[in-house]
Order: sequence, then C-alpha cells, then structure tokens
Amino acid sequence: MENPVTKYTELENIGSGGFGEVCRALDNATGGEVAIKKINLQGLRRKEVTVNELMVMKMNRNPNLVNCLDSYLVDDELWLVMEYMDGGTLSDAIDEMYISEYEMAAISRECLQGLDFLHSNYVIHRDVKSYNILLRTDGSVKLADFGLSAQLTPEQNRRSSVVGTSWWMAPEVVKGQPYGPKVDIWSLGIVGIEMVERQVPHCNESPTLAELLIATGGTPQLQQPKLFSALLRHFLSCCLQKNEERRWSAKELLQVKCKGAAGQTVSEDGLLLHWSPRHQMSPLPPHLHFCKSPFLLKILPLPLKH
Ligand code: ATP
Repeated sequence: MENPVTKYTELENIGSGGFGEVCRALDNATGGEVAIKKINLQGLRRKEVTVNELMVMKMNRNPNLVNCLDSYLVDDELWLVMEYMDGGTLSDAIDEMYISEYEMAAISRECLQGLDFLHSNYVIHRDVKSYNILLRTDGSVKLADFGLSAQLTPEQNRRSSVVGTSWWMAPEVVKGQPYGPKVDIWSLGIVGIEMVERQVPHCNESPTLAELLIATGGTPQLQQPKLFSALLRHFLSCCLQKNEERRWSAKELLQVKCKGAAGQTVSEDGLLLHWSPRHQMSPLPPHLHFCKSPFLLKILPLPLKH
C-alpha cells in the first residue's frame, strides 16, 4: 500500500538491461541503502520470468542469496527492492583484481552455501555465472538473478529445457537431456576457472559453438594447471565431472571435514573450502592497489602468479 516513490530516494543507476534498470536508493525511514530493480512488465515472457524471480526470492531467504525486501507495482513496472551489494558483480572483480586461490576458495564456499540451500528446497538456479554473483565490501558473497531458476518437487526432480548462459552451461543442459540441481555445480566450476584464469573456457567462441564444444568435449581444463595447487585442481575436477552422477553435490563439497592448520583449513579430501574466514579476505600481494572500492582492485602490472 505504501508509495515507493516517496519511501525511497533514488541515488544512481547501477545496472540496466532488457528488463529495465537497477538503481541504488536510500530507504528514507531507515537511512539504509537498497537496490531497486524496475522491471517493465510488458510482454508475456518478461512477466513469467519476473514472477518466477520474485517468488523464488521471497520463498528462499538465506545469507548467501540476495534477498528481496519489498515489491511494488508502479504503473507497468514491478519494483523489486533488494539488499544492496556495494561490491558489484564477481565479473567486475575478476576484470579488476587478482583473485588468489584463498579468495577463490572463500567465494566458492559462500556460493556453495547458497546453492546447498536452494537445492535443499528443490530449486535449481540455472544461471550461475560471475555476473550473477554479487559482492559486498564486508566480504559477503551472494547469488543473484533468479529469473531462470526452476522449482522442482520430490516427485518431479528433473528438467530438460535448454536454459542458462552458454559458456557456463553443463553438458547435460546443452544436450537437452533431463537434468537436476548439479547443473549449478558445473557452472560454479566454470566460475572457479574464471576466477583464477580471468576467462571462461571457449570465451572467444559464439554461444552456439561454445555449446557444441561443451557437449562434445571432455572436462574443461585450466590453461596452465601447473600454476595452481593440487587442491584447487581437485576442487575443479569434483565440480566439472561430465557424468552428473560422479559430480559432487553442494552438500558433499561443503561437508568434507576440516583439519585445522595455521591460518588455513584444509579438508580431509584435500578440498580447500574453508580458507579465509568470512569478512576477512586474505592479504593482498603488494603489486595491487585499491581503486573504487576495496573489492575492485587494480593490477599493476597484471601478474598470474599463484
Ligand atoms: P536479466 O534479469 O534480464 O537477466 P540482468 O541479469 O542483467 O538481467 P540483474 O543481474 O538482476 O539483471 O541486474 C543487472 C545489474 O544490476 C547487475 O549486473 C548488477 O551490476 C546490478 N545489481 C543487480 N542487483 C543488485 C543488488 N542487489 N545490489 C547491487 N547491484 C545490483
């Protein structure tokens, strides 16, 4: 019943697309920052995607998912008021900073916690990629953009429509085969490669060719595997098993027991999902210096040392 136009003060545009725009705004009552996604509802497809996004956000609240605070219908637009993530997208961070293995592990762990929550509630995200992982400068990492997600049930726990963003899609999706929640784990493995190598496999190919290469190729490989630890390579291979049954679930990847080591915690299986504690990213190499925000770092010159 409230009027969002007077409830919030718009500050700046922070994103736009076919749907409309996203702006940063102040909640006049609390003084807190929010993000408002204004979605133009004209067109049936857009309505379906929007209602899907709204329902999934409202029904699935978790510290590792961008939460919906309110929603309003303003003329032909749906306003989705969300918590504001001041560190931008993981894609921005990959473009502008060096991400160490420790940070990659911490970010992966946070995403896995969000995915484990969604999968436990029979939801597949279906569009996990660096553009849909949002960061906050306090170290929080959250999955966003639930427009393509699918609600399963215990009885009907597979889908088969080809949905997602080509380079991050799992083989069973591009082949049009029935699939389940583990498609998100494959996509997270691709995000893992993206974090440490700064590009996804087949990034120079068209979406169609990328999908063909995913369908016919083997497990995506790091370009320079020797630059990375055995732990990291093992983690990626657990996520990027072509055979869905052999691919680990979010719960399995999170539940491995941890052995304490000075400042670092390594799982019994050698996975490195519990490195830097939340809100405390690992020390940065001296060649980095800050720009824009603590999350967006500039590299001078660009090193790929690990
Ligand atoms: P579509 O919904 O059609 O897939 P999209 O993926 O581009 O479009 P979003 O990802 O929801 O739309 O938002 C676009 C951009 O707005 C994001 O890339 C991000 O930069 C910014 N943004 C979205 N939500 C938030 C938020 N909660 N906090 C901060 N920035 C946000």
